[in-house]
Amino acid sequence: MRLLISACLLGCRCRYDGASKAHPLAAALAERHDLVPVCPEQLGGLATPRPPAERRGEAVVTAAGLDVTEQYRRGAEEALTLCRFFGCEAAVLKERSPSCGHGRIYDGTFTGTLTAGDGVAAELLAAQGLAVYGESQISELLK
Ligand code: SF4
Repeated sequence: MRLLISACLLGCRCRYDGASKAHPLAAALAERHDLVPVCPEQLGGLATPRPPAERRGEAVVTAAGLDVTEQYRRGAEEALTLCRFFGCEAAVLKERSPSCGHGRIYDGTFTGTLTAGDGVAAELLAAQGLAVYGESQISELLK
């Protein structure tokens, strides 16, 4: 299966803090599936490192109150473009991210509190009918 995947899970240092979130099962996943890496926040034109941001309703804001919704939306659209171009059948995305999180994300208070919801890219991809998995489900994709 061809899978869109958050680039940080493959070891790319594209996170807001300039770090990666390399997943120990990423290499095994790459042996079993074709992976197409994307980082919606970089694709949206944001720098790395960059200020952390969280969703507040339809908006995405930094802790300092800067509205970065447009960059997050653009990044989500670019991820969708690549997803379609490569014919990805599902996505494996970094959990809890304001872009990639699916099901549970931080609540916009910058207190580490989770709430129900999707990151901007995950929301768009799911709305287009793509199955979205979090990294905690990678082991399921290896069966
Ligand atoms: Fe990883 Fe997604 Fe954040 Fe990029 S936007 S660093 S791929 S979680």
